Amino acid sequence: MNIFFDTDYTILGVDGSLRPHVGELFQYLTHRGHSIYIWSGNGIRTKDIEKHRLSNFVKGYFEKPVHDYWANTSRLPTEDHPNMVIDDNLEIVATLGGIWVNQYYFPNKADIEMKAVKEIITEIELSGTSEDPRFRKLKF
Ligand SMILES: [Mg+2]
Repeated sequence: MNIFFDTDYTILGVDGSLRPHVGELFQYLTHRGHSIYIWSGNGIRTKDIEKHRLSNFVKGYFEKPVHDYWANTSRLPTEDHPNMVIDDNLEIVATLGGIWVNQYYFPNKADIEMKAVKEIITEIELSGTSEDPRFRKLKF
């Protein structure tokens, strides 16, 4: 699957720090044959990903639409369409399909939301769906 991660408050806190367990999730997903993309409504975030030494896991960077999610996402090259989005904004997750995560704002070493994402994706791989309330049906 092409898995698109939002940046601010999904994998980065307000101070730019990396959310716990993002690195191990990226490693796991890459190992399972998924493609990881980073997008943001706040530009192309290559530098933020380089800073946290995660570039090797990332297949592509895009600007995330901030409205008309479906129409704007459909304009991406076909091979780069998101099969799943991970975002703290429920609206884009409900529109495109994926996993909503609670907003990561202040650094918190005890945060385990990325572990939940890993479990949900594993469940989807095994059964095609998930009963977790964070999950919204895949569309692409
Ligand atoms: Mg966000």
